[in-house]
Amino acid sequence: VDNLDKEARSLLMSKVKSRGNKSTEIKVEDKLLEQEINLWIKHPKGIFGNPDFYFPNNRLALFVDGCFWHGCKKCCRNIPKTRSDYWIDKISKNTKRDNKIRRVLRKEGYHIMRIWEHDLKRDIWIKRLRNIIRRTQNESINY
Ligand SMILES: [Zn+2]
Repeated sequence: VDNLDKEARSLLMSKVKSRGNKSTEIKVEDKLLEQEINLWIKHPKGIFGNPDFYFPNNRLALFVDGCFWHGCKKCCRNIPKTRSDYWIDKISKNTKRDNKIRRVLRKEGYHIMRIWEHDLKRDIWIKRLRNIIRRTQNESINY
């Protein structure tokens, strides 16, 4: 990233930081605790694609994705004008990688749920998660 100009760099740093803070992940973790949704592991080892949370009894991998980096179509229309090629390329690579991860995990028999950063503004994702958990209860027994 050394060839980035000043504006692009400071934007990158702010995005990196917001990723490094993992504020979205912390929000999800807090909600899970508050809602008494249990039996999950944060940052499980050895699962392809490094999901943010994993529910072993359900074989459910949960990803919490930032809208900017993962190319959320709902939010990220405002690609910075400076070095837009750089951002577009980066985001499209991330999107491709995300798709591959989901493909591989599904093939391996995992369930996948993705929470977008913008989903965290409302609690609907919790209902979605509960439904998936109920539907996939004790799937791990088969494995
Ligand atoms: Zn979004």
